[in-house]
Amino acid sequence: MTAGASPVVGRFAPSPTGRLHLGNVRSALLGWLEARAASGRFLLRVEDLDPERSRAEAIDALLEDLSWLGLDWDGEVWRQSQRASAYDAALEALKEKGLVYPCWCTRAEIARAASAPHAGEEGPVYPGTCRDGAAPKPGRAPAFRFRATPGVVRFVDLVHGPVEQDVAAEVGDFVVRRFDGVASYQLAVVVDDAAQGVTDVLRADDLLSSTPRQLLLYRALGLPEPRFAHVPLLLQPDGKRLAKREGATTVAGLRAAGVPSEALVGLLAKWSGLTEGAPVRAADLVRDFSLSRVRREPAVVMPEALDTLVRSGT
Ligand code: GLU
Repeated sequence: MTAGASPVVGRFAPSPTGRLHLGNVRSALLGWLEARAASGRFLLRVEDLDPERSRAEAIDALLEDLSWLGLDWDGEVWRQSQRASAYDAALEALKEKGLVYPCWCTRAEIARAASAPHAGEEGPVYPGTCRDGAAPKPGRAPAFRFRATPGVVRFVDLVHGPVEQDVAAEVGDFVVRRFDGVASYQLAVVVDDAAQGVTDVLRADDLLSSTPRQLLLYRALGLPEPRFAHVPLLLQPDGKRLAKREGATTVAGLRAAGVPSEALVGLLAKWSGLTEGAPVRAADLVRDFSLSRVRREPAVVMPEALDTLVRSGT
């Protein structure tokens, strides 16, 4: 089957806030392998919604990093900063259905109003202050929140199996447009994955808890839901998320140190449970790839492994 003939469409959707980190690039590699192993298409979308945190040079740099790793993509690179009208249209559709409302609360007010036992993983559960209408605050634009449908949202993740979350109870009504007029990540990602015809969303575990919110939006907007695969994070030996470590954890830093791309791909494949870690080209991993071979436990990245990698470049 040639690329394009397969119904699988995967994507990588990085935020261009700095150089690509080993964690991001591992998601890119696995997403690319999943799509290419199914002879599917693989799309690249730059999530540069946040004008203050996104840097134009970071976009060029990330394309360069991906190409250096041997990962390619189909069609134009989409940029979320150019998609505001699509997000506005989705917001209008939700407004027409009565599923969003303006919210004038500040972060501090929400933190005060939400009682501590209800504080969710991602901050306090929104207490619903503006749900039934609230007086506008002069000189301030509102955010818009989605009325979280009561009840448990269920889906079957391709890595985790059955997942469920009661969004209304555990997160509360969530923001779909920020008070500065920018669409929230949750809304933009749904609108774009649907508009790009993405069938398979592969990303790291840190976004697993966002998926039920996104499913509520797919359902509210009447959009077809993709399959989801959340791959384990790369961790430090102390169990924390892999932190940036003086160049040794960015693709650019490793490349600058002279590390061959095959050595890095080999290590990423090893951390994912795919190989023993010998240097390899991404394209050579396609034939034997299957999501069921990706290890389910987070990989611990030993500093010595990175030191050895850096030495391989000298
Ligand atoms: N832009 C998000 C990030 O870099 C990823 C979004 C996604 O894959 O859904 O964390």
